[in-house]
Amino acid sequence: MDIYNNPTFNMACRQFDLVADRLQIPDDERGRLKFPKRSMTVALPIHCDDGSTKVFAGYRVQHHLTLGPTKGGLRYHPDVTIGEVAALAMWMSWKCALTGLPYGGAKGGITCDPRKLSITELERLTRRYTQEMIPFIGEKVDVMAPDMGTNEQTMAWIMDTYSVHTGYTVPGIVTGKPVAIGGSLGRREATGRGVGYLINRALDTTGLAANNCRAVVQGFGNVGSVTAFSLAKYGVKVVAVSDMFGGIYNPKGLDLAAVEKYQEEKKSLAGFPGAEAVTNEQLLLLPCEILVPAALERQITEANAGKIQCRILAEAANGPTTPEADVILDQRPEIFIIPDILCNAGGVIVSYFEWVQDLQSFFWTESEVMDKLFRIMETAFAQTLNMSRKQKVTMRTAALSLGIKRVQEAKKLRGLFP
Ligand code: NAD
Repeated sequence: MDIYNNPTFNMACRQFDLVADRLQIPDDERGRLKFPKRSMTVALPIHCDDGSTKVFAGYRVQHHLTLGPTKGGLRYHPDVTIGEVAALAMWMSWKCALTGLPYGGAKGGITCDPRKLSITELERLTRRYTQEMIPFIGEKVDVMAPDMGTNEQTMAWIMDTYSVHTGYTVPGIVTGKPVAIGGSLGRREATGRGVGYLINRALDTTGLAANNCRAVVQGFGNVGSVTAFSLAKYGVKVVAVSDMFGGIYNPKGLDLAAVEKYQEEKKSLAGFPGAEAVTNEQLLLLPCEILVPAALERQITEANAGKIQCRILAEAANGPTTPEADVILDQRPEIFIIPDILCNAGGVIVSYFEWVQDLQSFFWTESEVMDKLFRIMETAFAQTLNMSRKQKVTMRTAALSLGIKRVQEAKKLRGLFP
């Protein structure tokens, strides 16, 4: 399966192999669990606003189909590759299994810089991608959601394109769409609020008081910004946040509403008054109790894992910590890690609620959604913490073990056809 060869995919495989060794999964079952069931690469030609035609590469990977349809986000970023998408799909599988959702993992992406495309170019690109994916997706087959570089509007275009093709409205083809067209209340905030909830649980577990804590958040997009606001509600002082251009730091605490307003106006955090500029590398090393990587993969590496200063590392992004960094963090028991597949699971949990509401055409209140979200997160957190303590393994090993074991059991029960 050389087509997936890429540092992020190799990292996801290494994490899997370590857990498979621990669970003593036989060799002849490992390939079935590890490698994606299906993947699709498409060329996406679009007319640009300047009259030229450009071709973009698009991908979709469906990791396993054992527990139901596949589910996962769609990413627009210049570094997207099939290998990265496959890694993200694999992590989605373990995340859905850990939280008990009836899905396999999937992920998609287009290699592009969405900031350099106009709104009409983005719409044409999204509709073209959806058109090319039609034989491959469906509300009972594979359901997309937003990820980096995509949002509610992207999901609305996908739903519209798919529905026009089908001849009737199919809201369940995507989640994370606007509430006005079948989205769920609370979906946009779900990932960040879930991260905030688990950090609060980790504060209880580690005996820290929220109002004595400082937080640093890398990435002030959907997940990072909602997490920051959620932490502020719990009484935590958010001292630094960043975007792809760099970060801003004020040890006395940032005025988050002012930061959000500034970012909306300037499309960047650079130059925010009343804070000092820091690079994304410096930001990760700032003194704080809570560190939240909420941007890209492979940010905590062997180069900086020994130097981060937090007590809680809350992995809001997917795959922010490399296995080499994990070896170093294993020697730092003062740091409590909330691993990615647990930490950011709020997004897919409320996506599941949205899908269920769409299939039933029966919609819930925001408090029903939040109440159900926190119950599932609480159960997954308690099961992971319990296994970590009982079996004396890290929180990451516990979370991955629970997820992988559930998929392994389901595959065993269903057997191998023919
Ligand atoms: P987003 O596009 O809304 O925000 C991403 C943020 O990261 C932006 O502020 C961007 O400027 C910043 N960023 C990009 N490159 C960076 C870099 N090199 N250094 C620092 N910051 C950088 O995306 P999002 O939806 O908030 O997703 C963020 C992470 O959370 C991703 O890893 C994604 O896979 C994960 N995630 C998202 C969801 C969801 O519901 N959106 C759910 C689960 C996990």
